Amino acid sequence: MKYRTIKGVQDILPPDTLLWQHVEATAQEIFALYGFQEIRTPIIEFTELFVRSIGENTDIVEKEMYTFEDRAGRSITLRPEGTASVVRAYIQNHLYNLPAPQKFFYKGPMFRYERPQKGRYRQFHQIGVEAFAVDDPRMDAEIIEMLHLLLDRLGLGNLNTEVNSIGCPNCRPVYRDKLIQYLKDRIDSLCADCQRRYEVNPLRVLDCKVQGCKAAVKDAPRITDFLCNDCKEHFEKFLSYLKALEIPFTINTSMVRGLDYYTRTTFEVTTESLGAQNAVAAGGRYDGLVKEFGGPSTPAIGFAIGMERLITLLKDSKEPPAFCPDVYIVTLGDNAEEKAFGIASALRKGGFSTELSYKGGSLKSQLRRADRLKAKVAIIIGEDELAKGVAVCKRLSDGMQIEVALDEIPKSLEGLLHSPPISVR
Ligand code: ATP
Ligand code: MG
Repeated sequence: MKYRTIKGVQDILPPDTLLWQHVEATAQEIFALYGFQEIRTPIIEFTELFVRSIGENTDIVEKEMYTFEDRAGRSITLRPEGTASVVRAYIQNHLYNLPAPQKFFYKGPMFRYERPQKGRYRQFHQIGVEAFAVDDPRMDAEIIEMLHLLLDRLGLGNLNTEVNSIGCPNCRPVYRDKLIQYLKDRIDSLCADCQRRYEVNPLRVLDCKVQGCKAAVKDAPRITDFLCNDCKEHFEKFLSYLKALEIPFTINTSMVRGLDYYTRTTFEVTTESLGAQNAVAAGGRYDGLVKEFGGPSTPAIGFAIGMERLITLLKDSKEPPAFCPDVYIVTLGDNAEEKAFGIASALRKGGFSTELSYKGGSLKSQLRRADRLKAKVAIIIGEDELAKGVAVCKRLSDGMQIEVALDEIPKSLEGLLHSPPISVR
């Protein structure tokens, strides 16, 4: 084989694509209940947009971005996540002038140069939402409820929701200093990455997956003990609203998320069944980002779902969907074949998915093909039938068959497709 995909990216093929469409359609339906409308932003942006929002000292910006110079020498990056672009679009298109709150969802590919492994790819897909202009903690609880409703509708249970508050620019620096002091005494037990970054981004050490770091931060001061009054009140109300909505959650004070723009509420939905890559969806508040990008001061909150991980869970938990045509037309002889061509056209226009047997062959072999395609009904047209102006319609699930006039096929099909199966004694 001469050409293969680049490392870490993959083709998404049928029948999996049916599952993807199902997830996307369900998400769109649920999001509409909460007033979220779709926004589509470009896949490429100026590099600066991501550096400024995600943060210079984050894994994404330090080592994961696909960045290149375009022909005019500008630095361009393939988006590693969705929020920065939505915030840019929000400001550039003056979306803050729309009636508040402004609520958007997006879906599409993201790109991160990570070490490919199960649940971790270089091109992956997210469905995400962003809600602007509401700082009420009810919004935080509501979007988590929306996420739960979606996962529930998709048939996924057994998920853990972890929540935390990482404070705001008023209270976080105090905590940060405390944490740096705490880590200083344990610097030798940190991994190389954490030793390097503990002074610039000490919160990241808290959710480092390396065993030594995990042990080192076990008794670290907790951010929730350092929240200012406003952040504390927000967090407490948020938790009480989650309870009111009967959403099960656990507080994880070391869950800080890998992007610098977050303030106050952060959350992650995880599952035991994905192994090391256990986060299915994650999000949080970013009350400072719109202002920092030059827009009016606007609180905001969002989350993103990792599609590949979600699809893996769905495939483990239920039968994959199949694409089954309504009709397979079996033809015997040239005249029948010619007639079938027109019938297929009419059936499709009438709303029946229809497959033709181009290859001909015996009745038996054509019926076998119809079975393999999981067609619901076979329409059999031979020379005899043609002479009489009829066809045999055979329901493949139970073998029930009727003879119908050629021009009445669509009407009879309705009956065959929707009548109860005959019981087999
Ligand atoms: P992780 O801790 O797994 O690296 P993250 O904190 O980097 O996740 P986010 O940036 O919050 O992830 O993205 C939200 C979701 O997107 C994640 O919860 C995950 O489901 C998915 N995701 C992130 N990176 C990848 C990747 N490289 N491949 C597949 N899915 C990913
Ligand atoms: Mg990551």
